[in-house]
Amino acid sequence: MPIYKAPVEDTLFVLYDVLKMDGYGNLPGFADAPRDLVEAVLGEGARICEEVIQPLNVVGDTVGCKRNDDGSVTTPPGFKEAYKQYREGGWMALSFDPAYGGQGLPLTLNAAIGEYLSSSNLAWGMYPGLTQGAMAALYVHANDEIKQTYLPKMATGEWTGTMNLTEPHCGTDLGLLRSKAVPNGDGSYSITGQKIFISAGEHDMSDNIVHLVLARIEGAPAGTKGISLFVVPKFLPKADGTAGERNPLSCGKIEEKMGIHGNSTCVMNYDGAKGWLVGEANKGLNAMFVMMNEARMSVGIQGLSQSEAAYQNAVAYAKDRLQGRSLSGPKAPDKPADPIIVHPDVRRTLMTIRAINEAGRALMLWTALQADISHRSEDAAEKQKAEDHMGLMTPIVKGVLTDLGFDNAVKAQQMYGGHGYINEWGMGQFVRDARITMIYEGANGIQALDLVGRKLGANGGRAIMTFFNEVGTFCAQNKDDAALGPMIGALSKGLKDLQAATMWFMQNAMAKPDNAGAGSTPYMHLFGLVAMGYMWARMARTAQEKLAEGADERMTAKLATARFFFEQLMPESGAHLARVTAGADSMMALPAEAF
Ligand SMILES: Cc1cc2nc3c(=O)[nH]c(=O)nc-3n(C[C@H](O)[C@H](O)[C@H](O)COP(=O)(O)OP(=O)(O)OC[C@H]3O[C@@H](n4cnc5c(N)ncnc54)[C@H](O)[C@@H]3O)c2cc1C
Repeated sequence: MPIYKAPVEDTLFVLYDVLKMDGYGNLPGFADAPRDLVEAVLGEGARICEEVIQPLNVVGDTVGCKRNDDGSVTTPPGFKEAYKQYREGGWMALSFDPAYGGQGLPLTLNAAIGEYLSSSNLAWGMYPGLTQGAMAALYVHANDEIKQTYLPKMATGEWTGTMNLTEPHCGTDLGLLRSKAVPNGDGSYSITGQKIFISAGEHDMSDNIVHLVLARIEGAPAGTKGISLFVVPKFLPKADGTAGERNPLSCGKIEEKMGIHGNSTCVMNYDGAKGWLVGEANKGLNAMFVMMNEARMSVGIQGLSQSEAAYQNAVAYAKDRLQGRSLSGPKAPDKPADPIIVHPDVRRTLMTIRAINEAGRALMLWTALQADISHRSEDAAEKQKAEDHMGLMTPIVKGVLTDLGFDNAVKAQQMYGGHGYINEWGMGQFVRDARITMIYEGANGIQALDLVGRKLGANGGRAIMTFFNEVGTFCAQNKDDAALGPMIGALSKGLKDLQAATMWFMQNAMAKPDNAGAGSTPYMHLFGLVAMGYMWARMARTAQEKLAEGADERMTAKLATARFFFEQLMPESGAHLARVTAGADSMMALPAEAF
C-alpha cells in the first residue's frame, strides 16, 4: 500500500524563511493567521489527508464511480464519509470571505493544503477543488441575490460545484459551443445542450450540485463573443434556501477512463434546465476565466502532488530493495546486496524529482502569495504587480508542474523496476492519475500558447520585465558570495537564455506567427526552469543563512539539492533556447498528406 506524509516542514520553510509570510500582516486575514495558527492548520490538514483521505486512494482507483439506472452516481466506498469530515472541519471555505461563511484565512494556506489533499487522493480532492473554483467565479461575477443563495451553502460544503465548458465537438475552441439559453421572461433562462467530461458532474457526496454552464443566448453572436455563463443547480433552491424541485438536467453516462477513477467524469444533459445569468450576457468566458485561473493553479498543484507522492514511495523502495553492490564498495556488507539507493543512476532519478518538487512547491506558494496580495492589498501598485505575476505564472505553474509531475511519476515508477508495473505497488496509479493534469483546464500546449501569445506582450511586457529585473537583481546581489556564486552563475546563464528567447520571439514571431506556436512549449519550459532556478537560489541563500546560525541537517540537504538542480537541470536552458530559435520551418516543412 503506498505511503504519504505531508511535507509540512518544507511548506513552513518556504512560507516563513524564504517568502517571509509574517511580513504581510497588513493584508486582511493575515494578521488573524500568526505562525502558530498556520502551523496548527497545516498540521491538522496533514492529519486528515494522511489518515482519512489517502487510505481511500487505492479504493477509489479500483472500485471507481458507478452510474445507477436512475442516473444517480455512487462514489467509491468511504468517499462520502471522508467528505463529511472535511466539510465539518470547515476546510471548504478556509480562505473564503467571512461575509459568506468563510474563514478569511490566506489563500496561500489553502494552496498548501491543496497539495496535501491531491497527493493523498487526486480524484477525491477534485470534488472540493471544483467547488472552490465555482465559488470564486460566483463571488467575482454573480449578482447579490445569486451570491446569497449559493455561496453560504457552498462554503459549508453542503452544496458542491462544477464547471461545464466542454461539448463533444469543442474543448479548446469554445467559440464553437452550441448549448443554448432561452430567456423565460422572469429573469431565468432555459438551458439546453450536452456537456461532456464534466468532473464531479453527478455524485452522492452533497445535497445539491451547482453547475456553472457556458451557453449561447438565442440570437447571440457566433464565436467566443456570444458565450454567457449560467448558474444551473441540480435542485432549484427554495425560498428558505434549501434544495427543492429537481431541475431537468442529468448525468447520461460516466466515462471509463485511464485514471482518477474516484472522480465521476460525466456526460451532462441539460433539457430545458432553469439557470440564471452570471455576470454580463455574452461575457461568459471572462467570468469563467476566474474559475479557470483558479483551477489552472490547482491543476499545477495536482501535478506537483503526484510527483511528491510518487517520490516518497520511490525513496522508501530504494532504501529497501537490495540489488547489486555500490561502485565504491559494499555499503551493507552484512546483507546479500546493497539497497539500490547507493547507485548513482538511482540517485540521479531521485534527486531530479526531489529538486523539482521542492522548487515547484516554492514556485506554487510564491504564486499563491501573489494571489493573496492581488485580491487583498489596498496598495494599487503592489496589487498590480501581484496581478501581473499571477497572469504570467499561471500557465507556467499549470503547464510546467504537470508536464514534470507526469515525468516524475514515471521516473519514480522506474525505481521499482518490474514491480512498478505491477498494480500491487500502486505506482501505476500515480502515473495514470498524473496524466490527466497535462490535459484538462486547457491542454499544456494551450498553456504555452497563452504564455507566449497573450501574457508576454500584455501591458507592453510589464510582467516579464518585472520578473527579469527581480531575478537579475538577485543575481547581481549574490554573485560574489563564495558558496552561492556557482549557482548564481548557472541561474544568470538561464536568465540570459530566457531573455534571448523572448527577444527572438519579438523579432521573429510578429511577421511569422508559426514561429511563436513552434517555440511556445520549449519557451514555457525554459521559463519554468528559470523560475524554479530563482526559487532554488533564494532557498539556497536562506539555507546558508540558517546554517550560519548552527548545524541543521535539513538545510544541509537543501544546499545539496540546490547544487544538484543547478549542475544537472539548469543546463537544459540552452537546449530549450536552441529549440525556440530554430523556428517553425522544420516542423511545418512536410505537407499534411506526408504524415
Ligand atoms: C477526465 C477529464 C475531466 C475533465 N473535466 C472537465 C470539466 O470538469 N469541465 C469541462 O468543461 N471540461 C472538462 N474536461 C475537458 C478538458 O478540459 C478538455 O478535454 C481539454 O480542454 C481539451 O479539449 P479537447 O479534449 O476537446 O481537445 P481538443 O481541443 O480537440 O485538442 C486536441 C489537441 O489539439 C491541441 N490543440 C487544439 N487547438 C490548438 C491550437 N489552436 N493550437 C495548438 N494546439 C491546439 C490541444 O493542445 C490538444 O493536444 C475534462 C476532460 C477529462 C478527460
